[in-house]
Formats: sequence, C-alpha cells, structure tokens
Amino acid sequence: MKRFLCGAILFGAVFSIGSCAKGQTPPLSGKESEDSTEGAWQYADTAMGTVVQETVYAEKDIANCFYESSMELLGKLEKEDLSWRLDTSQVYRINASAGEKEGCQISGEMASVLESCLELYERSQGAFDVTLGSLTRLWDIDKWAAWDDTGGFSCPSREAVEQALSLCGSERLRIQRGDGPGSGSSDAKVFLPEGMRLDLGAVGKGVAQSRLRDLLEEETGITGAVISLGGSILTYGVKTDGSPWKVGILDPGDTSSNIGILTLEGGWCVSTSGDYERYVEADGVRYHHILDPATGYPAQSGVRGVTVLVKEGILGDGLSTACFILGPEKGMTLASEYGAESLFVMANGEIILSPGMESYFQEK
Ligand code: ADP
Ligand code: MG
Repeated sequence: MKRFLCGAILFGAVFSIGSCAKGQTPPLSGKESEDSTEGAWQYADTAMGTVVQETVYAEKDIANCFYESSMELLGKLEKEDLSWRLDTSQVYRINASAGEKEGCQISGEMASVLESCLELYERSQGAFDVTLGSLTRLWDIDKWAAWDDTGGFSCPSREAVEQALSLCGSERLRIQRGDGPGSGSSDAKVFLPEGMRLDLGAVGKGVAQSRLRDLLEEETGITGAVISLGGSILTYGVKTDGSPWKVGILDPGDTSSNIGILTLEGGWCVSTSGDYERYVEADGVRYHHILDPATGYPAQSGVRGVTVLVKEGILGDGLSTACFILGPEKGMTLASEYGAESLFVMANGEIILSPGMESYFQEK
C-alpha cells in the first residue's frame, strides 16, 4: 500500500484537499479561478513532487504574475538546490563530493540552510539529521509511492541498517564560511566524509515556504495570500474581508476528516509530520518515512502526527520532523526553545497542545 497525504488542509477562501497523491492532477492546473471572496485568485499545480495551491488577494495581473514567479522559484529550488537526483543541484554536487579533501563549493543560502540543520541536530540531540541519506536510500522511501500493494518493498536487514547508520551523523558534516572582507554569497564550502549523503527531504518544503514569503514581500500589490505546499501552509497578510485564515489538521486515524482547525493571522508557517503521510506495508507490518537515527528504523514515539506553528518555514519543517521522533515531552520543549507552538496527535487519539497553541486551535 502506498499513500501520500498532506498534514493540513485549507478552509474558507481556499478549496480543501484531503490527500495529494504524487502525480495526481490537482483540481486546477496552472489556471487562475475566481474565489468566492472578492479579489482573490486561486491556483493549483505540482512542484517539488507535491501539490501546490495558492490563493492570492491582489489585482488579477499581479496575482497571475506572482503565481508564475512562485512556480518558477519552486522549480529552480528543486533543480538548482535540493534534489538529490538531478545532477544540476547543490545537494547532488555535495553528495558527489563526499570524501573529497577540497570539499564542495556551495551558495551562502545553502550554507545557511545547512547551518540551521546542524543547529537542529544538536538541539534535538541527533533526532533530526540531514545526513541520513544513506539510510533513507536504503529504506527506498522515495520509491514507496511507485510501488503497488503487492510488493516491491522488503524491510532491510539489521546488518544493512547498521551499515547505513555508520555513514550518518551530522557532527561529521563541516561547513566553512569565507571569512575575508567582502566574502560573497558563493564563498562557502561544505565537507562531507566519504560514503555519506545528505537528504534534505525534511526541510525542503520549509525552505520553499521561506523563499515564497520573501517573494510575497517583494510584491507590494498583494494584500494577502495563503499557499499550501503538500500540506505545509504559509499564511501572509490579510483577506479583503479581514477574516482570519483557517487551516484544518488532518485526523491521522481517519485522514478524510480533521481533528480541528487553526485560526491564524498572516505570517505563519504551519508544518506537519505524520506517520500517515508516506508509508509502505510489507508482511503485515507498516513502515513510515520518519526514521529514528538512534535505531535506523521508523520512529516509534507514540506520536501519529505533529503540527508546528512558527514564523520561519525551515524551522517549522525541521521541527515537525524532530518533534515526531522526540515525542511530546522533549519535542514540545525543543519547539518552545525555538519560539514555536506545537500540537501532537498521539496513537491513542490524545491531542497534546503547547500552551500558546491553545489560542489558535479549536478542536472539532
Ligand atoms: P514530509 O516532508 O514528507 O511531509 P517530513 O518533513 O517529516 O515529512 O520529512 C520526512 C523526510 O525527511 C523523509 O522522507 C526523509 O527523506 C527525511 N527524514 C526521515 N527521517 C529523518 C530524520 N530523522 N531527520 C532528518 N530527515 C529525515
Ligand atoms: Mg519536516
């Protein structure tokens, strides 16, 4: 069995999505449509292997132009920065350089992304680790969507997991910034030990959210927007009628419904990690895609889904993955250290909220 699901859904001025299978044709394809609320334009398409939905409050031409630019931005982000498959990307080049003494030249922006990831690695005590590439490749997570119910997947042996784990560990990743005067954005290098591989799957959507927010801020003609990137949601500005943005949190036990709704003003990034988002079944056992670096196997923290609310996308995306692995106690503490609110849905159905989340979340 294979499934891709989004962790959050949009309500109100935005059409709802319950699931977004990879490759599925979205309700609209690159076309604008008028929203029920005056002055809003809606778009849907796919990028970065997931469904993108946008509602933009602006003049039609400005909204169209933003939509085009945003799709271009997402395409470039995948092609030039994040993809581990495309040989045009920085992540591909970094992985190909593993073991090389002179390291790999990277952009200042990529260095910042990796620095945030290393900080989260330390603060999550290793639960969040972007050097899990060898392990995620062993588990073949990216291929799960392509396999049908009847097979293709078998759980890797413990020996293979141990071997892959020996090639993981962010403490072995080194970033060198140019420290001379006038050091430019290209003046950074990363050193990856031989055999190790990066996997930025846990922060890609968050990086995209941050870049899209910057793009929105550049366009003065946009008063409000909400963007869903495979269920990671960015709110910006205000709607014409002044009403807040509504974001539903999927029920991990029944992904056709939600457990409640977040009511948000503009400026938030909502990120969800869940065991129902991507998984595979073999010999009656269900394996999901968030791996615990302490064991090399899918994390078993009693959590089914975590939603993190924060202003900076990359933080939210990384934190939701880390919180899933750490569980509610340690995860909530970590999130609060970053000024983020968190919501945990446990396997027994219990919903655990950080104190600040209570003012945004309305249980169904
Ligand atoms: P998604 O982006 O699929 O909605 P996440 O943001 O939680 O969900 O990211 C999960 C992805 O991150 C996995 O598919 C894998 O590529 C990678 N990953 C899995 N476990 C970890 C981990 N412990 N630390 C960092 N990345 C991970
Ligand atoms: Mg994540």
